[in-house]
Amino acid sequence: MYQFNYVRAKSLADAEALLAQADDPKLLAGGQTLIPTLKQRLAMPSDVIDIGGLKELAFIKTEGNAITIGAGTKHYDVATSADVKRHIPALAQLAEWIGDPAVRHMGTLGGSIANNDPAADYPAACLALDAKIHTTKRLIEADEYFKGMFETALTDGEIIKEVTFPHPEKAAYQKFRNPASRYAMAGVFVSKGPWGVRVAVTGAGQNGVFRLKSMEDALTKNWSPDAIAGIKVPADGLLSDLHGSAEYRAHLITVMAKRAVEAAG
Ligand SMILES: Cc1cc2nc3c(=O)[nH]c(=O)nc-3n(C[C@H](O)[C@H](O)[C@H](O)COP(=O)(O)OP(=O)(O)OC[C@H]3O[C@@H](n4cnc5c(N)ncnc54)[C@H](O)[C@@H]3O)c2cc1C
Repeated sequence: MYQFNYVRAKSLADAEALLAQADDPKLLAGGQTLIPTLKQRLAMPSDVIDIGGLKELAFIKTEGNAITIGAGTKHYDVATSADVKRHIPALAQLAEWIGDPAVRHMGTLGGSIANNDPAADYPAACLALDAKIHTTKRLIEADEYFKGMFETALTDGEIIKEVTFPHPEKAAYQKFRNPASRYAMAGVFVSKGPWGVRVAVTGAGQNGVFRLKSMEDALTKNWSPDAIAGIKVPADGLLSDLHGSAEYRAHLITVMAKRAVEAAG
């Protein structure tokens, strides 16, 4: 680990001010990604600004036809929320499948989508549910937010405050987990709602999470697992690594998508 200044922010406004003052700052939320990155000397921030304890970022509220979740909300709290289970059970299920209990009790929604790991689960939910990402500077539509592997639309000094997930009519998430890390080797979130049909894939794309138009078109015509059973996903642009080839992941996407549509009912 390189040396850095550690500051615990007293409020969101304080965190913004601290970010503006520091040379090369980094926010710390649950630390599940940032701490290992620092330990491995893959990052050398001048200041680590801890927003992990901010109560104003940790909440789940339902308003109208949407649930808004604070960026500092832990995966465990999403997985066990009665409101999330009632209105978007697929999102509660997704949170329950993240990592292990230690990761779920520390990791946060904001940290997950700020990091935008190509195998992370929340990005698929955000894309498939047409989520709105509220930051200290603006509102970003999920379609505009995920820019590529570990890349997002966030600019310097911008902090995610909360994410709004509109209630879907139908939705489900299925993932084929890496047995060691539990990260998705292919995870597919399907939904049907006022936005139409959306199919978002994580864990498989070289550029991170993406929507699968061929399946969206097929499911718009006929919402059933059979409608997508024959769709062969091209392996081009998919990840190939020691965990599985691009062809294997392409196959997994169709299997996970079929299972998700079946689970959504
Ligand atoms: C063993 C292990 C297994 C895991 N398995 C899974 C899995 O199966 N599925 C999955 O999806 N994830 C998995 N994760 C990742 C985990 O879920 C965390 O969500 C993720 O590491 C980031 O969240 P965090 O709160 O820990 O963020 P941190 O590590 O604190 O921060 C991550 C990045 O986000 C930035 N950041 C944090 N909060 C904000 C904010 N509000 N606004 C702007 N930027 C911010 C930080 O500056 C940093 O760059 C796993 C992690 C571990 C260690």
